[in-house]
Order: sequence, then structure tokens, then C-alpha cells
Amino acid sequence: MNILISACLLGLKCRYDGKAKCPESVCGYISRLKKTETLIPFCPEIYGGLPTPRPPAEINSGRVINKEGKDVTEFFRRGADEALKTAEFYGCRFAILKERSPSCGSKRIYDGTFSGNLTEGDGMTASLLKSHGIRIFGETELPILIETLRIGSDQ
Ligand code: SF4
Repeated sequence: MNILISACLLGLKCRYDGKAKCPESVCGYISRLKKTETLIPFCPEIYGGLPTPRPPAEINSGRVINKEGKDVTEFFRRGADEALKTAEFYGCRFAILKERSPSCGSKRIYDGTFSGNLTEGDGMTASLLKSHGIRIFGETELPILIETLRIGSDQ
């Protein structure tokens, strides 16, 4: 099965700070998944036209504002559209997305104050994928995804 995945979770250095983000506990689950599924890396912020490194950004009142005060919503919107196109091209029913990001975060994201506080909500890419029926799993939810796939393959 094809599964879209945030590229930074595969060790690609596409985060705002020019680094990757894959905690060791997560890498183990990704290695397991890689044996049976096809993981398709994607970074919405890069495909949206932003450079790496770039100032961090957070969602505030429906807009995405970077730490320098610039409105970067359109880059995030374009990245979300490209993510959806990629997911649909590969027929992905599931996506593994980095938690808390203003693009990839699902259910909880940073609250727009750059203080590390979280609020309920989805990043722009997660929100668009969800609205098109793609199930999102954060990196701490990989055991649930693995179980979901196992049950599906038993049927
Ligand atoms: Fe990772 Fe998503 Fe941020 Fe790209 S946009 S660096 S894939 S969390």
C-alpha cells in the first residue's frame, strides 16, 4: 500500500531549521512499515515554494504567519494542494504526518504565539488531506496504523 509521509520523518533535512526530525522510537516503527508498505516522502512547505532553512511559522486566526511577522499562508496552501495531488496520484488512503506542524500537524498544533503552547486544530496539509478522506496518523500513532494495516490484511 502507498502511504504519504512527512519527508522530515524519513530523515530528510527539510524542516524550517534545516534538520530532520525522527526520534529513535519513531524510526523503529517506520523501518517496520517500510518492509511491507511503500512510503512516499513529501514536504508541503518545500513544494509550496519555501526555502530551507526558513523562519518558523504558526497558524493564527486562520492565517500562517512566520516569526518575522510575514504572512506565508499562500505558500502553505500551495503545499497542501501539492500534497493532495501527490496522495491522489499514488492512491494513498493513509498519511503519516509530523505532529504539531502548521502544515502536517493533526489534532493539535502550535497556537500561533511562538511560545511552544499547543491548541486544537490541524495544519493546512493535514486538514486538506482529511477533507478528502485520507486518514492521518501522527508519528506517535504509528502502532495504531500498524495494527490497522494488520487487521486489514487479515480480512
Ligand atoms: Fe516536515 Fe511537514 Fe514541516 Fe515539511 S512541512 S518539514 S514534512 S513537518
